[in-house]
Order: sequence, then C-alpha cells, then structure tokens
Amino acid sequence: MEDRINEIRTGLQSSPGVQSISPSENIADKVMMILGSLHDPGYLEALRLGPHPREPEITELARQYAAAGVPQNTSVDTGSYQRALFSAATGFAAATTIASKRSPVSYALCRPPGHHAGRSFMGGYCLLNNAAVAALSLRASGFHRPAIIDLDFHPGNGTSDVLSAHPDIGFASLHARTDVNFPWIPQLQPALGSHRYLEFLTDPSPAEYISALRGLLESDWAITLDVLVVSLGYDIVVGDPHGGWTLPPDVYREIGLALAAIGKPICIVQEGGYRLDALSACAAHLSAGLRIGMKETGRSHT
Ligand SMILES: [Zn+2]
Repeated sequence: MEDRINEIRTGLQSSPGVQSISPSENIADKVMMILGSLHDPGYLEALRLGPHPREPEITELARQYAAAGVPQNTSVDTGSYQRALFSAATGFAAATTIASKRSPVSYALCRPPGHHAGRSFMGGYCLLNNAAVAALSLRASGFHRPAIIDLDFHPGNGTSDVLSAHPDIGFASLHARTDVNFPWIPQLQPALGSHRYLEFLTDPSPAEYISALRGLLESDWAITLDVLVVSLGYDIVVGDPHGGWTLPPDVYREIGLALAAIGKPICIVQEGGYRLDALSACAAHLSAGLRIGMKETGRSHT
C-alpha cells in the first residue's frame, strides 16, 4: 500500500514548486479533540484498544462497527489505530497549511483513507474520517463555511454520517450507482439541506463527469463556501480494480481546472485509487490542472 502513496507523490511533484511536509508531533491533542466531535467515544475507545491479537482477519470488532447494510471488508489489527491516527493528523496538517496561508492548495497523502468512516462505523479500509478532520480544523481556524466534495468512485457515506452533527459544513458526493457498487441509500440519511448526492447511473464520459462537477461548483451549494476540502479518489479511472468506469487519467487535469475555477483555497485529502500504474499520471494531471487554473484566477500554486 505504501507504493500507492509513493506513486501519487511522484505525480504531484512533477509540477514545479510542490513542497512536501510531514505532520508535526505536537498536534496529537488537537487532532484527538476534533476526532471526539466526529466519532462516537465508544467507537474511538474500541479502536484504541484494538482486537484481540488472535482474532481472525475481519475481526469481531470490525463486524460490530459495520455501517448498516454494508458488508464489512475492513480488517483491524493491533497497529490500525496508530496508522489511522497518523492519517487523520495528515489531514489536519494539510488544513493547517491552508489556514496559515502558506499555500492556496494542499494535499494530504492519507493512508488509510477515511470517507467510509462514520460516527460509529468503519468500512472500505476507512477507520477515521480524515476529510472531516480537515474541514473541522479549517472551521476552527477561522473559515466560516468549509465544504467537502467527494470525488471518489464510491459514495462518501461515512462523511455524510459524521457531518450530520455539523450541518453548517456542506457536503457533496459524486459517485457511481450505489445499488450496484456500494449498498448505501443516501435518502435514509438525515435530510440535510447542505448535502448533495450525484449518482451516475452509467459510466460517464469525461465531458459528462466534468459537466456534473462544474454544475455543482457553480450551483447554490457552492456559493457560500470559503474553503473546499476534496475527498479525492483515483478509482474513477479505467482499469481500477475497485472501480468500473472508463475515464482516462487526464480527466484529472479537467478536475484540477474545475476546482481551481472556484477561486477558493483547496485542501485535498486522499481516498481510494488502486490502479498502481495510473496513480502517478492521475496525480500529475491533477497538479497541472490546478496550477494552470490557479494562474488563471490570479493565484500562485506552491
Ligand atoms: Zn473508492
């Protein structure tokens, strides 16, 4: 799995001016405080304690904390909690980079991902919701209207769930049809005016996907946001083992251009994407699109 992050890092660094930073060690308390307002205390404590060392791969703990109706595919071992905490801290650090105005765009290379992690459920390799950590951190730093847009192939069911207690944070998810790919019915979630769900019933063309994305970013939903967190998956491209669409890697250049066009700071948080030989190209296209788009809106991209 480390290979995935290295491939993405290589792609991002193909753009000039990209700097790499690591989460500092003195942010643990702040990250824990945010996690406490997103996740159920009992769930956090169960993760911290971890499974019995001799339990099978999909442990009783993981089964106990599955999302309603979603088969559990996520294993938990004794190191899972620490890895998830570091991933959440990475999301926090990316938000801090934006809040300190060091850069108008930051990218959290999170592993494990987080958008299937709800208040008291895990799934899809996600234990803690990194994107929501970034959004709450940005709000605490003075942004009034953070919003999260989820561009993974799968719906951000966990993000929808954790944000139901934070209705002032907008959420939108563009994803493949859930009845085939992910057994989640967003209508059953609390009906929040700040949430949007765009489900593609068929494999979209690049033009259809970008048109839906631009439509959302130009809609009422996006008018009031002052910073955007992007839950980004690379599993929308052709050949992804967990995907099912045929979008080419260069669709990310158009995604980068569309995101930059809103003229607001952007904090990107890594979700899925498992086609190893395409990750570097996807990330390079995204980075190029953001850089060109930010130049057009008069901002530098570092
Ligand atoms: Zn996914």
